[in-house]
Amino acid sequence: SEVATMMSVPTTQIISACMSLGIMVTMNQRLDAETLSIVADEFGYEVDFVTADIEDSIEEIFDAPEDLEARAPIVTVMGHVDHGKTSLLDYIRKENVIAGESGGITQHIGAYGVQLENGQKIAFLDTPGHEAFTAMRARGAQVTDLAIIVIAADDDIMPQTKEAISHAQAAGVPIVFAINKIDRPEANPEKIKERLASMNLLVEDWGGKIQSHDISAKTGLGVKELLEKVILEAEILELKANPNRLASGTVVEAFLDKGRGYVSTVLVQTGTLHVGDYVLAGKNSGKIKAMQDERGKNVKEAGPSTPVSILGLDGATQAGDKFSVLEDEREAKDIASKRAQLHREQSVRTQRHITLAEIGRRIALGDFKELNIILKGDVDGSVEALTDSFQKLSTEEIHVNIIHKAVGAITESDVLLASASDAIIIGFNVRPAGNARQVADKEEIDIRTYSIIYDAINDLKDAMEGMLSPVM
Ligand code: GDP
Repeated sequence: SEVATMMSVPTTQIISACMSLGIMVTMNQRLDAETLSIVADEFGYEVDFVTADIEDSIEEIFDAPEDLEARAPIVTVMGHVDHGKTSLLDYIRKENVIAGESGGITQHIGAYGVQLENGQKIAFLDTPGHEAFTAMRARGAQVTDLAIIVIAADDDIMPQTKEAISHAQAAGVPIVFAINKIDRPEANPEKIKERLASMNLLVEDWGGKIQSHDISAKTGLGVKELLEKVILEAEILELKANPNRLASGTVVEAFLDKGRGYVSTVLVQTGTLHVGDYVLAGKNSGKIKAMQDERGKNVKEAGPSTPVSILGLDGATQAGDKFSVLEDEREAKDIASKRAQLHREQSVRTQRHITLAEIGRRIALGDFKELNIILKGDVDGSVEALTDSFQKLSTEEIHVNIIHKAVGAITESDVLLASASDAIIIGFNVRPAGNARQVADKEEIDIRTYSIIYDAINDLKDAMEGMLSPVM
């Protein structure tokens, strides 16, 4: 109906134009860029995509291989609640201080860097948990190179452990397991490794490729060795960046400080950030007045994989917003204000998520090769049965990929994962819990719930064949 208003034609005409293209739409449905262009053309209009123009005006610089230098890995700690994520981050923060510097890191700025005895560095995101990790991904920011998944050895593989594993895997981020609390008499690390093996996650002790180390986040036992394994794993990734260019990266935290104004912690991913640089971050911009590291020390510059808190932006950016340094202040201001305007006029969504009703058309267009599904069910038996049946629906054209399956209600974290991985959610005898429904509406994630296995399989089959009738 928005398109109809813009072109001053009746909404019904837009709907029938869509129908003649084989697309069943409702009044309030969003059209993708391609459909919009074709429909507008039918009525003699040309579509001008403003968002795309704004983003195109930020010049992307490609680095020559000889300009690239090794950079430190950026690590997120995930795992089930109470398994020791915060304790591990705290221990590392306190104990690993750069040689010669007294005292640990006292500031919580959202990320911190440590240096091991051998001089190697690691940057940690200081917001533990896969929710934060996936929320950033849903906003288009992939910052993490590697995930440490903490599992308490006196407990078991718990639902959030499984979630964390799925979330890391869906992001293609390698995992290092930290089997924690081995100081406790009840600890049984071998049981945990066995349970991991039964999930097809073979750790090194078990002849597999996944790194794992037994630790105590409380006493610090094994933490040094764990970090060495993180470095080893990161070396395989050959992480590189060009430090000699205008900086860009991601915002990890931002707040308003009464005395100092807006403070944003950013993680530099490429280039070097300097005091005095003109920064564009999301809908905000500004000239960097001062920068501080995690020790509260003023710094003049920050290179790749370095977290730093900056002063000088004209607003609170959002975690997951990308930032970049531009040559001149005018340009940074212009783009920021255009983005802000667009944001006010409409909720900007550059990427639409897949829906079951749309799968058939996307397959027919040939731009859709993998259907990601998150599957939640009431009991193990139904989840396994559906996994099996769904996977069997894979064809040569399209691969059905179950990125996460578990017993339990559909949660907000499932919705975020769906948003970050462009997946649909299928619930069997379970419903969205808590905020999941609202977040799904906002993120435009398709949630389908069933109580008959046959119906779920048939719907998916029909959808893949382009036969599913849309829900009006
Ligand atoms: P999170 O929810 O994963 O961040 O877990 P926390 O770090 O808050 O830890 C939960 C509880 O387990 C706290 O009471 C910690 O003191 C305790 N804990 C964490 N690591 C260890 C450990 O290695 N040994 C022992 N004995 N307790 C631990």
